[in-house]
Amino acid sequence: MRQIAAVDVEDRSGDQRSLVAAQPASLSGATFSSTDPHTRRPWAEVALGDGADASRAVTAARRAFDTGPWPRMGAAERGRILHRLADLIEAHADELGLADTQDMGKPITQSRGNDVPRTAANFRFFADHARLSTSEAYPMDTGHHAYTRCEPAGVVAAIAPWNFPMMLESWKVAPALAWGNTVVLKPAEDTPVSATLMARLALEAGMPPGVFNVVHGYGPDSAGQALTENPAVDRITFTGESGTGRVIAAAGARNLTPVSLELGGKGANVVFADADLDNAVEWSIRAVFTNSGQVCLAGSRLYVQREIYDEFLTRFAAAADAMVIGDPKDETTRIGPLASAEHHAKVAGYVDTIAEQGGTLHTGGRGDGWTIRPTVITGMGHKARHAREEIFGPVVVVTPFTTEAEAVELASDTPYGLNAMLFTENLHRAHRVAAALRAGTVWVNCFFVRDLRAPFGGAGDSGIGREEGTFSREFFTEPKAVVMQIDTAAE
Ligand code: NAD
Repeated sequence: MRQIAAVDVEDRSGDQRSLVAAQPASLSGATFSSTDPHTRRPWAEVALGDGADASRAVTAARRAFDTGPWPRMGAAERGRILHRLADLIEAHADELGLADTQDMGKPITQSRGNDVPRTAANFRFFADHARLSTSEAYPMDTGHHAYTRCEPAGVVAAIAPWNFPMMLESWKVAPALAWGNTVVLKPAEDTPVSATLMARLALEAGMPPGVFNVVHGYGPDSAGQALTENPAVDRITFTGESGTGRVIAAAGARNLTPVSLELGGKGANVVFADADLDNAVEWSIRAVFTNSGQVCLAGSRLYVQREIYDEFLTRFAAAADAMVIGDPKDETTRIGPLASAEHHAKVAGYVDTIAEQGGTLHTGGRGDGWTIRPTVITGMGHKARHAREEIFGPVVVVTPFTTEAEAVELASDTPYGLNAMLFTENLHRAHRVAAALRAGTVWVNCFFVRDLRAPFGGAGDSGIGREEGTFSREFFTEPKAVVMQIDTAAE
């Protein structure tokens, strides 16, 4: 079993040749195991941090921010280190990809082939974004001149979920670091390994000690909660369940610490009769079954216009049945096991109660081990639990609709507001429906295509705030106004 770091605070020693060399223990000396969902056996032993470790990490980050070089460097110099980190991430793609695959069961083609390059791209983007950002100037009629400065906020606590471990962590860590903050990252307890590897690569890239810290452990009454309650933390950025988001928002409010929340979703996917059916089937499959449906953006409510309902359903179900289920380390696998026994039990509970909720299991159902086959439900009312609650598995409820207005009403009838997809060849309809849907992102004729300059986040129970581009800059910096008197007197 691999021994993995607990807290990677200010550690520049250690054997850089082996990224998974033993690391400092947690203060208590306790450890926990990460279980490989395919073998259902522990594969890595990780030191278990708690409140004391979180506090130690915040102290290190505070010191690095208050007295270290990182916030005082120019954005270009920080950017060079972040670019080196991106290069190292790519150079260690096999190891990082395998870490996420063994921690949570996602197919290796996704972790190594998609998540690693996107993680590297995130560090590059934010390094360049911070370097190229401009500030505003306001010449005043009074003979004064006002201008803005974006100053780093301070110590950032980043708390992450398990479904896209390194990639999602980098959406928080990269902009926070690029803007001169120091960071304490708490990865999800199910996926500790890639974060530790990234932190070690950051040291290797030349990041000063204490700038990027990782603390492992659980959320409530543990490392996560301690981070959110620490008054030395200046920003809390959280991605996870909506219920956890409420708890974290309350903790942030007590210290008046700004909180950004990326929470759950129940994405609607609307397929109009005038859609390109080949394209709609292909993207609709990806929208709900990528990462075994463990995606906040999953198009788990599929609305299909009646004229094409039968044909679309036949083709969609056939494509779902054709997905290769198996060992996520196998390059041909498209559907791996769910991330944990607990999560499998939750999703299987939904699969077992389809008839009870008035639906029909069109195809799919329980698979071997912790696997759920791509599952298509029909005939279920729009108000049924499966159509309203975030299942976070490869399960989709398919419902017919008649008119565009009905589709918009059905799609927007959710407490969440993260994203929606729509498929149509009618340009006017595309713009009209995209504008009408209550969602942070609307994808037209595609899914999960991202531009890091565009905002990402959701309305309603899907969160507060937006990430990426200038939206990340606003969250991770304190804007300062400087007003100067200009001496206009002639010599
Ligand atoms: P979760 O809320 O259970 O846990 C997320 C993280 O929060 C973990 O690191 C956990 O240890 C920590 N945590 C839990 N309770 C805490 C507390 N009281 N204080 C501090 N930290 C605490 O979520 P999860 O099961 O890991 O992830 C799945 C959820 O994440 C889904 O709801 C999914 O939709 C959501 N998600 C949202 C986005 C988005 O961008 N909107 C992206 C990915 C996942």
